[in-house]
Amino acid sequence: MTQKYFDIHSHIQFPQFSKDKKEVLGRMEDEGVGVLVVGVDAKSSELAIREVVEKDYLFATVGLHPNDVFKESFDISYYRELAKNKKVVAIGECGLDFFRTKPEKEKIQKQKEVLEAHIALAVELNKPLMIHCRDPLRRGGGEASAHDDLIDILKSKKKEHGDMLLGNIHFFTGTKEIAKKYFELDFTISFTGVLTFTHDYDEVVKYAPLDMIMSETDCPFAAPVPHRGERNEPVYVIEVVKKIAEIRGEDFGIVRGALVENARRVFAL
Ligand SMILES: [Zn+2]
Repeated sequence: MTQKYFDIHSHIQFPQFSKDKKEVLGRMEDEGVGVLVVGVDAKSSELAIREVVEKDYLFATVGLHPNDVFKESFDISYYRELAKNKKVVAIGECGLDFFRTKPEKEKIQKQKEVLEAHIALAVELNKPLMIHCRDPLRRGGGEASAHDDLIDILKSKKKEHGDMLLGNIHFFTGTKEIAKKYFELDFTISFTGVLTFTHDYDEVVKYAPLDMIMSETDCPFAAPVPHRGERNEPVYVIEVVKKIAEIRGEDFGIVRGALVENARRVFAL
């Protein structure tokens, strides 16, 4: 199947899709939507690989989500074995989450340790990272910033590993200034259906170079307008691509094509 769109971050291996998986995949095939199926822990990473083996438009990522590092200890040799599969195109999702996890010193430390293990694995296997990064709801007053901490880690690792360290910041909810810092580190950012119901990210969508952004759904979560409140699914990425083109004031076909190219380049598809 030729891909006309890429949803670079989905969780179609989650139980929310168990009843109608066939129909969901059918709609993706009809619209030409390629997908990365993202693992968040040992079990869902293994399921992601199982999900993608037989379809040429599906790819997997394996990793341990920052909110899950307290219930599963990151077994690097287990993930290494999974990641050796040819259909595994990235390591993650991994990262820092100070939104759902209260940013206490010990918890931050744990998330950082596990993130650094993912970085080491990605560099070792020459695969990009799929990074999750979320700031606490209320900032200011000296509160910790997940993005600031992540940028510090990536900067120091970049000095060590150079071009071997690459990846994408998924579900980007930062500012233009933060995006700029990721671009300087050769990291792309990706946007979700959230763009269809808030103007909070319009400025960063307009500012970003077209070759540094990608489209995603993060389904089953975060469905775009006109599907808000429903279960999200990969074909709805079309709404995200339309919105990106509209916000940037660029031709839909050009933006669509560029976002597919970017996914191919970053994940070597
Ligand atoms: Zn996710």
